[in-house]
Amino acid sequence: MTKEQFEKVKIPIVEIFHSISGEGISAGNIVVFVRVSGCNLRCTWCDTKYSFPESGDSVRMLLPSEIADEVKSFNSDEIICTGGEPLEEEKEKRYLSAYLAGLGYKVRIETSGASELYQNNELDVFPGAEKNITYCMDVKCPGSGMVYQNMLTNIALLKKGDEIKFVVKDITDLNFSFDVIDAYKKQLSENGIAINFSPVFDSIKPSEIVDFLKERNKYSIDNNLWIRLSLQLHKYIWPPFMRGV
Ligand code: SF4
Repeated sequence: MTKEQFEKVKIPIVEIFHSISGEGISAGNIVVFVRVSGCNLRCTWCDTKYSFPESGDSVRMLLPSEIADEVKSFNSDEIICTGGEPLEEEKEKRYLSAYLAGLGYKVRIETSGASELYQNNELDVFPGAEKNITYCMDVKCPGSGMVYQNMLTNIALLKKGDEIKFVVKDITDLNFSFDVIDAYKKQLSENGIAINFSPVFDSIKPSEIVDFLKERNKYSIDNNLWIRLSLQLHKYIWPPFMRGV
């Protein structure tokens, strides 16, 4: 697809709003969220199920230029493209993040890790996009019910400024996460990838994760890994399941 062709396509949007980034290494930054609709996964603990429908009353079909105009109205230079799944393959919405990055915005893409990250030839269509894109990529744990969907080959494509996130529900998820970290520790260390642990809300206690990470702190140091707890700030600032914040 060329840039000109993409500019004529309408993209399904659930919401566009101005708030703080709630999690990961960008937590606390003032950003614009662009939430596309549709996701090819069904995580058991998903807190954005309202983003599943790809048409209907909850979805606005917008041209890329209309999305850009709305983003511009917030006077922010940072965007989080989220969903649903913004990088779902063989869907036109996949190119929205690159389009916005090509306009000069710093774009962080929140992806399930079950879709391919951008390949270089895709970004060629949007000059300047590549340097403006970072990823926060989930690695799905057993408690999500979606562990078989992980595309762990994506880890090799991550670079400095990117991060991965394990949303953990219980001790099984914590142990699984460390098996993945151990298998990919060389890439994670060499590329300075932040590794976030985020509790399923109202499930595992954050303090249990802290205890678990403390026990593995020496391992993290010995392997030069950046492992951290990430709480969803917005769920502490506003009612936990409030939308548009
Ligand atoms: S990948 Fe994200 S949007 Fe999709 S089901 Fe899982 S948590 Fe929900």
